[in-house]
Amino acid sequence: MATGAGAGVGAADMAVAIGLGSNLADPVHQVRHALGDLGDLPDTCLIRHSALYQSSPVGPQDQPDFINAVALLDTRLAPPSLLDLLQSLEQAAGRVRRRHWGERTLDLDILLWHDQCIDLPRLQVPHPQMCRRAFVLRPLLDLIPAATLPDGTRLQDHWMAVTDQPLRRLSCLKEDQLAQRTH
Ligand code: AMP
Repeated sequence: MATGAGAGVGAADMAVAIGLGSNLADPVHQVRHALGDLGDLPDTCLIRHSALYQSSPVGPQDQPDFINAVALLDTRLAPPSLLDLLQSLEQAAGRVRRRHWGERTLDLDILLWHDQCIDLPRLQVPHPQMCRRAFVLRPLLDLIPAATLPDGTRLQDHWMAVTDQPLRRLSCLKEDQLAQRTH
């Protein structure tokens, strides 16, 4: 079921926000490639995407850093259909998932769906963890500085609570160096 509060400043501009993450099998390539794939989804346009960020793992610490980004989509797909397609992309990337909050080849999450709340057995939007994660909030705020949640709270305020989490924005040069090192 989807419901919209409709009151948030900037909410109408939020489109559909997707979080991307990878820390296996050339993560820079995985994220870049997935951004291209998002633009090729049916009935969907990639509006824009953030820079790539490098973040420390949230779960077990004996795993590589993650590469993350956020993309904004304009789509005519229904939310469950988009989730199906995102999960197909994860599988196509040879998704490996060894343990909870562990390493993964590609993770694609639906973060926001305009100003709507979605509460289905297999899909909750806003993504339940997003406000606790610097690697989600920073790139999303880069794209939409005035972003709000459907409950009207400002993502900027959630960001202020997580600025201690290690996060590094990658320059294009650094992306290339990281990609070469993992080849
Ligand atoms: P994870 O691998 O930790 O991202 O979790 C994947 C599971 O989360 C899948 O079974 C999805 O059905 C479920 N899920 C619930 N809400 C979302 C969401 N907003 N985006 C992506 N997956 C979701």
